[in-house]
Amino acid sequence: MSLLLKNATYIDWKTLDFSRKNIIVREDDTIQLLSIENDDIILPDTEVIDCKGRLVTKSFGVGHHHAYSALARGMPAPKKIPRNFPEILQYIWWTIDKQLDPDLIELSALVTAIECALNGSTFVIDHHASPFSVTGSLEIIAKAFEKVGVSHLLCYEISDRDGMVIAGEGLDETDSYLADHPGLVGLHASFTVGNETLGRAVELMHRYDSGIHIHVAEDQYDQDMCAGEHGKRVVERLSDAGVLWSSKTILVHCLHLDDSERELISNSPVWVSENCESNLNNKVGHFKGAGLGENIMLGTDGMHSDMLQSLRAAFFAGQPHDTISFDSAYRRFRNVHRYLAENGFKGDGENNLVVLDYDPPTPITKENLTGHLLFGITSAHIRDVISRGRLIVRNRKITTVDEHEIKKESRKQAERLWKQISHL
Ligand SMILES: [Zn+2]
Repeated sequence: MSLLLKNATYIDWKTLDFSRKNIIVREDDTIQLLSIENDDIILPDTEVIDCKGRLVTKSFGVGHHHAYSALARGMPAPKKIPRNFPEILQYIWWTIDKQLDPDLIELSALVTAIECALNGSTFVIDHHASPFSVTGSLEIIAKAFEKVGVSHLLCYEISDRDGMVIAGEGLDETDSYLADHPGLVGLHASFTVGNETLGRAVELMHRYDSGIHIHVAEDQYDQDMCAGEHGKRVVERLSDAGVLWSSKTILVHCLHLDDSERELISNSPVWVSENCESNLNNKVGHFKGAGLGENIMLGTDGMHSDMLQSLRAAFFAGQPHDTISFDSAYRRFRNVHRYLAENGFKGDGENNLVVLDYDPPTPITKENLTGHLLFGITSAHIRDVISRGRLIVRNRKITTVDEHEIKKESRKQAERLWKQISHL
């Protein structure tokens, strides 16, 4: 079935040109822009959405997410209060991920996909960890995302932190998932991945023509451990291992880098994912784009699923620490599409759109759109969302799954998870 968006104000996400259009949206990755003079078009088997007075533009994508952390929202504080970044991982995230079982993984993915869709994101690059439920975990997440109608690029977070058997399971899960699906080879971070696991991950990357998705220098701790154990800096170590070879590789955070590491990154085809709200929350430092080149995209790091919020956060947090302008903030926000297109990943074509119910108090034009995105438009203005030509959010409601039932179940499962953790 096709969709017809009638009388829309269409904003081309690349040129920012505004035009009044009737838009035919198809499921074959294409849209057709027609003059609004064609008011009498009648198409068979087509749902019509009245977009008069509304803005229509390309939907958004998340450049780094952790669906597995979805049920942590509001959970009781850990018994030991973390004093630094390694303790945050140990007392919070590595406590949760060890408890995840197939039901919790599925619910986490469903609620994440729902929130992504409602907030206008139709593509998610996710990084998953469930060390005591590794096998089959990626397939569960893929199915949950597809049920909601959100496209995905998944990976399992391989790590030696729970022992070599579990590291091996992570490698095997990656191997079997990549045999049937596009995806990435996930690694936690340099400081929890020894040389053997790193080498095997890079082998998988080459075997499947994939990329590595890894946290890099999120805290100074990562650099200190690397210097102590390997006698080199993190990016140097990854570069020596061949991680920077692939344009599909995503280096997440990249806070504590020296100039030579920035140069290694900017001279390579890899991508950097900025997640500044997570950095602020963990008190690990501030992102600086200087010297990293143009391949910078934005993520949420599992904090939420609202990319308009990530855009604003990158802009505001960047004011004292980064060189970020209205235009470069918008480029980073939209770069996820370039990453996906240049690497040939499917699911992010032009038939992914958001309809915004935004009635601005000031004129909105090609010249000032970025100002409206930073200071006016929020996810509350998102009315409809179209993913791969399908209407997955209609009038602010998910059309593909029963959101109410899923949330009811996820609250139950979250309570179970919190109880399990409270015994530890
Ligand atoms: Zn992360």
